[in-house]
Amino acid sequence: MRDFSSDHSALALNTASLGHNLEGHGAGWEPERLIDACAARGFGSMVFWRREIGSRAIEIGERARAAGLSVAGLCRTPFLVGTDAVDRQTVIDGAKASVDMAAGLGAAVLTIVVGGVHPGTKGISESLKIVADRIGAISPYALERNVKLALEPLNPVYAGNRSCLATLRDAVDLCDVVAASNLGVAIDVYHVWWDRDLDSQLQRAGKDRIFGYHLCDWLADTRDVLLDRGMMGDGVADLKAIRASVEGAGYTGPCEVEVFSANNWWKRDPGEVLDVMVERFRALC
Ligand code: ZN
Repeated sequence: MRDFSSDHSALALNTASLGHNLEGHGAGWEPERLIDACAARGFGSMVFWRREIGSRAIEIGERARAAGLSVAGLCRTPFLVGTDAVDRQTVIDGAKASVDMAAGLGAAVLTIVVGGVHPGTKGISESLKIVADRIGAISPYALERNVKLALEPLNPVYAGNRSCLATLRDAVDLCDVVAASNLGVAIDVYHVWWDRDLDSQLQRAGKDRIFGYHLCDWLADTRDVLLDRGMMGDGVADLKAIRASVEGAGYTGPCEVEVFSANNWWKRDPGEVLDVMVERFRALC
């Protein structure tokens, strides 16, 4: 397992951790200011959201690299299934536009959160079949543009409306079904910390299909399952054990801090939040 106590170059910022992804929250810093703040603190890479990039993908990607940072990823495709994703062609076109943005940024990975239960169906099985069909239509387009697609299984509390893909087991199954060389998974502590099947499913995924590792913590008395994530060390997730499993399966990439915290971290000074991330990462992750 890598030792981060004296080297945090594996640390990546997911910009949503500073509140930029929700109206009325966060510092409202432009990408350039975020890039400089991360570079000054020795972060190795960054992950942006589409709304921050707009039509400036190439410019922002180049700006990050000029500051010594890589762009580890882009969040994320629009939902592939669910009430906002009914028309197949519209979904595929939206996903392809996200692929284009990731390619312009030079982002290594485009994350996919698949969406909730599809209208007219019950349970998750039918929805997952529709997801497989739609990813099958998107993955060749992404492959041509050198973009990897990372399926992120979300905590089952979101299975109804955000992600019918709720376990790493189902995510690896989906990878097997679609069988595209650029399709893999992203592991987020918030979504998998409870899963005692994690280690064996990571082994099944293998190093060539683990495209991302996301850090935060699960607060024991969480007040909001979407916007009350904990900073690493403040919750009950066994961070070192999870990373041992992820790296035991061969992952050597960035560790991306992704903390949605409307009533705590998003209210703080972004510079302070970044400093705490570095400190916690080196000591606790
Ligand atoms: Zn995540």
